[in-house]
Amino acid sequence: MFNLILFGPPGAGKGTQAVKIAEKFGWKHVSTGDILRAEVSQATPLGLKVKSVMEAGHLVSDELLIEIMESVFVKNNTVNGFVLDGFPRTLNQAEELDKMLLKHGQKVSLVLALEVDEAELVKRLLKRALDQGRKDDTEEVIKNRLVQYHHHTKPLIDYYLEKNLYREVYGQGSIEEIFSQLCEVISL
Ligand code: AMP
Repeated sequence: MFNLILFGPPGAGKGTQAVKIAEKFGWKHVSTGDILRAEVSQATPLGLKVKSVMEAGHLVSDELLIEIMESVFVKNNTVNGFVLDGFPRTLNQAEELDKMLLKHGQKVSLVLALEVDEAELVKRLLKRALDQGRKDDTEEVIKNRLVQYHHHTKPLIDYYLEKNLYREVYGQGSIEEIFSQLCEVISL
């Protein structure tokens, strides 16, 4: 099983590329943001619990995310690969992911990061707010999400560098150009 983590700040284009990668390689795309948004829009108990946290651009608790991921893995144990998009986002999540994968005889295969300038990220996130009406894409919330990324998520780069699993691709250019660079690294 190929376990790919698509890594990068909010607005880097992880969602778009994750869908394309999953389609090309026949892997399961798992976006924790999409899972959580669906819970919120269906007003499930979990959705009601995380709504305000998400709308403020903060991170949902590690315990909830780990629970969600465990159930995704158990439900999809026949797939031949995963593209994780938006998870892990904290060191604790990364460590718990390793433990969970190990329990199932698996490990992280590759961490592929999309590198995008901060000004470009803000521009893209503001545009997405207009196009999709995402409540967590207002200017204030965007700032929060980038702060969360720098504070909690960026340290994962060192975690995966140490394991020699981390690779970077420049995330600015056409969707197809970026996609082909990602595919090249995956196929190495
Ligand atoms: P995304 O669509 O990946 O940007 O996720 C949208 C929001 O969902 C984030 O701003 C967080 O509030 C929450 N979220 C998604 N994935 C995670 C995660 N791995 N850990 C904590 N919160 C998450």
